[in-house]
Formats: sequence, C-alpha cells, structure tokens
Amino acid sequence: MEINPSRTVTVPGIGEVSVGKVLCIGRNYARHAAEMNNPVPTTPMVFLKPATALTGPGTEIELPTGIGEVHHEVELVAVVGARLRNASATECRRAVAGYAVGLDMTARDVQAEAKKAGHPWSVAKGYDTFAPIGQFVAPDRFDPANADVSLSINGVEVQAGNTSDMVFDVGTLLAYCSTIFTLEPGDLLYTGTPEGVGPVRPGDRLRAEVTGLPALEVGARAASARTASVQ
Ligand code: ZN
Repeated sequence: MEINPSRTVTVPGIGEVSVGKVLCIGRNYARHAAEMNNPVPTTPMVFLKPATALTGPGTEIELPTGIGEVHHEVELVAVVGARLRNASATECRRAVAGYAVGLDMTARDVQAEAKKAGHPWSVAKGYDTFAPIGQFVAPDRFDPANADVSLSINGVEVQAGNTSDMVFDVGTLLAYCSTIFTLEPGDLLYTGTPEGVGPVRPGDRLRAEVTGLPALEVGARAASARTASVQ
C-alpha cells in the first residue's frame, strides 16, 4: 500500500533507474478523442506528469475528496533507455528499453474546468498516485504495434482497444518529444488511452492489461483533501 517515494522503475538491461520525466500523450486514439468531443490531433498532444505521481502494482490510488470524478485511462507505457535529442523515429524505437502497462489517472472535472478556462492540465493529471505503472518487459519480447489494451473494474471490462489504432506510434511520439525535451534513460512515455474512460470509486479494484505484458492491479481509496493557505 506504500506509495513509491523513490520515483524509480526497474528497466530491463539497465536496472533501477530514477524517473526524470513522465511524458503523456492526449487524444492518441481516434475513438477516445471522439468520446471526449475533441478533434484528432495532427501533431502529438503532449503533457507532463510529475514523477512523484508514480505508484506501483498492488498499491492504492488516492482519490482526493472534493475534486469531482477521477477517471481511469489505461495506456501502454514505454521507458526510454538512451539519451535522445532530435532523434528519428527509428532511433527512438531502438532506444526503448522496455514496455509496461500504466494508468493515466485524471481528475476529469478539474480538467474540464481547466479546458474551459484555457488553463494547463498539471493539476488534473498530477496528484500523487495518479500514475500507476506495472512491471517492464524487454522490448524484444513485446510488439507495441499490435497489442490489446484493456481495463477491468471489479471484474467488469470497461476499456478495450488495440495499439494498432494509435494515431502516432511509440517511435514517432518519442521523436516528436525529443525535438522539445532531451530524453534521458528512465523517462516514461504514456502513449494515450483507448475509449471507455470513466470514474473510479473508493474500494474499486482495477486490473489494467496489455497483451504480452504483466497485468497491473491497483485499488482505490478516498483521500482527504490537503489544504494550504495561500497568501
Ligand atoms: Zn491519458
């Protein structure tokens, strides 16, 4: 039940690595973009989560009270194994050190307000425990181009898709990101979610799956909102 405080992941061929950046992609599956009434982007839509949002298998997602709905987004996650700057898609594909199942937890009502106001998504996406991550598998043992992606809550499947429906593949996404950020070993890429996103409630058991990767199971519990006085 402990939150991963060290922000590390175990990467095949490298070992334990401290996570620098958590890159996330929005609207990378056309049907998910449609369910959110968003257009399909022509360049990748990138946002960041803090590494402190990471939490491992068997932990519980904290659902802050008083912020409205928190939604699940099951995603394929790639971990970067090399330093990349202005790299090609092919170089980026070769530089992936592993794949895992992840959840991009999203405070949907907070996000909706941010969208309306033209504000950034950092709050909606960045709470502690909002980036559950499973165990990584070496890239030679997994095909990221054709894998089923699904999520069950309390044994009922709610999300289902296939990575072949991604608008931009892993190599293209990393290449694009490498034109903005220098990518470093241990950086994570959450590649976007298929349709079927919805709310998570205290007591729910989530099982996130990508064919060929170890399933990621986490629970969920209510967490009292933290307050700070702002001068
Ligand atoms: Zn997402």
